[in-house]
Amino acid sequence: MTGTIDDSSTDSGEKPGAVTATGFVGIPSVDRLLHSVECEPLLESYGRARVTQAARSILAEIRAAIANQEESVPPDRDIISRMHTFMAARSFSLQPLLNLTGTVLHTNLGRAALPETAITTMVRIARGSSNLEFDLASGKRGDRDVHIERLIVEMTGAEAATVVNNNAAAVLITLATLARNREVPVSRGELVEIGGSFRIPEIMLQSGCRLVEIGSTNRTHLRDYAAAINKDTALLMKVHTSNYEIKGFTNAVKDSEVSALAHEHGLPFVTDLGSGTLVDLTNYNLPHEPTAREAIEGGADVVTFSGDKLLGGPQAGIIIGRRDLIEQIRGNPLKRALRVDKITMAALFEVLNLYRDPDRLQETLPTLKFLTRSAAEIQQLAEQVLPAFQQALNNHASVTIIDALSQIGSGSLPLDLLASKAIRIVPLQTEHADKALQEIALRFRQLPVPIVGRLHQGALLFDLRTLDSVTPLLEQLEILAQP
Ligand SMILES: *Cc1c(COP(=O)(O)O)cnc(C)c1O
Repeated sequence: MTGTIDDSSTDSGEKPGAVTATGFVGIPSVDRLLHSVECEPLLESYGRARVTQAARSILAEIRAAIANQEESVPPDRDIISRMHTFMAARSFSLQPLLNLTGTVLHTNLGRAALPETAITTMVRIARGSSNLEFDLASGKRGDRDVHIERLIVEMTGAEAATVVNNNAAAVLITLATLARNREVPVSRGELVEIGGSFRIPEIMLQSGCRLVEIGSTNRTHLRDYAAAINKDTALLMKVHTSNYEIKGFTNAVKDSEVSALAHEHGLPFVTDLGSGTLVDLTNYNLPHEPTAREAIEGGADVVTFSGDKLLGGPQAGIIIGRRDLIEQIRGNPLKRALRVDKITMAALFEVLNLYRDPDRLQETLPTLKFLTRSAAEIQQLAEQVLPAFQQALNNHASVTIIDALSQIGSGSLPLDLLASKAIRIVPLQTEHADKALQEIALRFRQLPVPIVGRLHQGALLFDLRTLDSVTPLLEQLEILAQP
């Protein structure tokens, strides 16, 4: 390519394409593109500078392709359409989607859907300044924890509470504060990996404490804890492991035994609840999961749990317990690194606030609403959307409603599956059926609001347990149905 063919030659309003006698004739100038009617919406949305950059970039691509004899000069309309694609590829890649995987708290899909009140308050607080760390009565500097501590204490019966970025951070800062350079005995049966990247032994290492493994994978006795205690022991700790089978609920008794032993030796007893919840889920016909209050009543001095698992709130790690210990944790310089922002606090407050009205929690808290939906109710949703699915997949696939099993997700109660209903899609073609199925799944994922299901036994399943309202789904299916 010669030096005369560059952006500036087209940009400066020279006769387009006049530079050479080859296929470059007819390439529009940036100016011509920007002045075309089709470009107006682009200019409106993105501004002149960005559209100019897009035009230059696409024109450079076209010149390179022409030089390689891969294409001839496309019509302006096509070039502008490629500029649209260029812009879209540079917009925010995090986008809303419809989670129809059947997993209510899906870590890869952002876990808990927030209630409307949380969203409204987040927006209100995000818009401007707030008394985040400012005491309005005294006009002096305040502490951000005051805005949510009282409510957490009210809901859990703990003396004090603080909040960090997530539960992994809660465990980290708790151990780094209370057990740095000292020993922490933990049962081998509780050294779990949760969701791939969180492993208790690794978090303990990062916190600077020394893990002392006790007992065996399947059984650990009180005497194992007792034997591990020495002058270097910082605390006793239990990790609530719901990634594998727990039959019945006998942990409360065990927790209280470990706590009694810890207290005999003047040591704190720490419980990582993982998910944790504030209500007795058996009231909603769900399997029992230890509540934060039960953990405190069972004698725990510090309890950590997630904000965005069963609690149904924003990503956060909640630390509750004895006031002196919570004060120590709050005073750790790590707290500054792990603290939550005002927007998270706004959402967390509103979610916790809903728990003050447990009678309506099933309606007000999306996580609980989804978890407690009956198969009959989900069947109704399925029947409402079935024709639209059939229309969208017109002649390509068989589309039916089947029984399905939803999961709670996020390591919460993973063995307890919830009876549900799903739209089942199976490609009609029998040859390369797997490839056809993958292609169908991809088409759903490529919609403006992607629809994500799960592949199961040669079928694509869309579990409707987590469908909040049918309208957004029907809108997307209509787009899919267009030829
Ligand atoms: C999920 C979980 C964590 C990590 O919580 P995040 O909020 O995801 O950081 C820690 N411990 C246990 C037992 C868990 O289940």
